[in-house]
Amino acid sequence: MLSPNLWLQETWAQIATTYSPLQIEITGTVVVQLLTFYLPCAIYMSLPKLFPAFSERHKLQKQEKQPTRAQILDAVFVVSRNQLIAFGIQFLGVWIRQQHGLPCIYDVSPTFPTLQIFVRDFAIALIIREALFYYLHRLFHAKRLYPYIHKIHHRFTAPVALAAQYAHPVEHILVNVLPVVLPNALLRSHILTFWAFLAAMLIETSTVHSGYDFWPHLAEKHDRHHEVFIWNFGACLDWFDWMHGTKEKQKVQNAFTDRNEKKKS
Ligand SMILES: [Zn+2]
Ligand SMILES: [Zn+2]
Repeated sequence: MLSPNLWLQETWAQIATTYSPLQIEITGTVVVQLLTFYLPCAIYMSLPKLFPAFSERHKLQKQEKQPTRAQILDAVFVVSRNQLIAFGIQFLGVWIRQQHGLPCIYDVSPTFPTLQIFVRDFAIALIIREALFYYLHRLFHAKRLYPYIHKIHHRFTAPVALAAQYAHPVEHILVNVLPVVLPNALLRSHILTFWAFLAAMLIETSTVHSGYDFWPHLAEKHDRHHEVFIWNFGACLDWFDWMHGTKEKQKVQNAFTDRNEKKKS
């Protein structure tokens, strides 16, 4: 009997040699996006219904501040529209490459990338994504741009997981999609590395917007950004916030007045 690792390698080799790189790129990317964004969103957002006491204990902001049912339905519509636009752009890119006989932007070879190459590409992509996210996010906070584009994302002052992609389409493409897609394309990474990176970033962004305190620090600092707008522009690393003095000076946990009040009562 094949070991699970060997079975996975053989299955991947079969897929890579049966389908065209462009078919693989489109199908895999859509599947990863649907599974690793909507599934965590569904889990986080069903907690108040399934385990209300547990959910209340771990929510970062008060119940009165949580979005209404109408706001959540609006988020479902806006997020689906944004994803359709992103998929449309991806299909168009693949179609153009197909017309011009250009190769896939990722390496779709039938062998797995080595662990060393995987870790290297993942780490470089994480740093590039963080830099792109930080500077583009700050750009959209500029007075002239904010009211037209980024204000939409900030409608959720107490975010829920789905609010991660609740944004103007221009912001969704430039701030959410591009910083995740571009680094591995520039590195011409193995497509499995790109999918692993995409999955990690989608799980991270739904967690960051979940409004729960499960992973210390992650959601709290971005929740705080939604609440006060002027601190914590980074995604998962704090490097650029420290570098530019936009890291909230006070310890994030102490700044959560709502939470402290809730604990006292
Ligand atoms: Zn946000
Ligand atoms: Zn913002």
